[in-house]
Amino acid sequence: MSTQNVPCAEGVTRREAFQPCDKPAVAYRRDPESKDPYPVCAYHCRGDMVPLVVPFWEGS
Ligand SMILES: [Zn+2]
Repeated sequence: MSTQNVPCAEGVTRREAFQPCDKPAVAYRRDPESKDPYPVCAYHCRGDMVPLVVPFWEGS
């Protein structure tokens, strides 16, 4: 699985239109509700996150 050129999965909703962030992701963040990991950029990474180079589900 490549970790290069993964776009940020965060975004903002303005006037009912979802605007994806699309900045290069630097880490994965675990969704607090679904527990699913998703890539986030440096601006959006916060809270539960792990370095992109060592995803927690692949670490040992
Ligand atoms: Zn972002």
